[in-house]
Amino acid sequence: MKTRLALFGPPGAGKGTQARLLGSRLGFTHISTGRILRQAKREGSAIGRVARAYIDKGRLVPDEVVYDLAARAIADAGWDRFVLDGFPRTLAQARWLASCLDGGGAPLDSVVLMSLSDDRVVARLSRRRVHKVTGENFHLDSKPPPESERSFIIQRKDDRPEAVRERLRIYHETTRPVADYYRRAGIMTVVDATGSFEDVHARIHGLVHAD
Ligand code: AMP
Repeated sequence: MKTRLALFGPPGAGKGTQARLLGSRLGFTHISTGRILRQAKREGSAIGRVARAYIDKGRLVPDEVVYDLAARAIADAGWDRFVLDGFPRTLAQARWLASCLDGGGAPLDSVVLMSLSDDRVVARLSRRRVHKVTGENFHLDSKPPPESERSFIIQRKDDRPEAVRERLRIYHETTRPVADYYRRAGIMTVVDATGSFEDVHARIHGLVHAD
């Protein structure tokens, strides 16, 4: 079984949803740099104040800011049975991660590239909503939020059309090339991210259990 994973793919591919399922069903620690940064932003901490402008515009937060957060989260997970969601996103981050994990004797087992077309990304994100307390994602068509929770349901600023376009541009220019790094390392698998979250989970689950 693979126990040190990274989920990789465009915004809206469902990385967060799948990482949460791996957490609840297989006991993986879900490490989302985006979630940690949003939390810091809400709390108004020093990191949060730096990150705010980048996040709201859909830009990447500087690498050095993310390294500290990632290192702490990986150590807290005990260097094993974790799934990275949204990290690494640049080649520099991928190289940093390799040396961090090698230092802990815990290299990545598998990188899953969740593939989804730009058109589907835009369709998913424009209708995505999030629960501001639990962080659970909803979709106005396929998974509408419960009426009783309505006052907690918001749209992320970076899910607005302008920010989505910027996130996709950055994904293609900066993040997608990181896939080649992992392809060369022989640990990357492409998974079709279309279909229901259960379908996608089944694909990833099969891969986690494959030799
Ligand atoms: P996510 O929730 O993964 O879509 O991340 C939301 C936002 O947080 C991104 O658009 C970036 O602004 C920031 N962010 C998250 N992870 C990273 C990362 N690995 N490197 C730089 N910025 C990040």
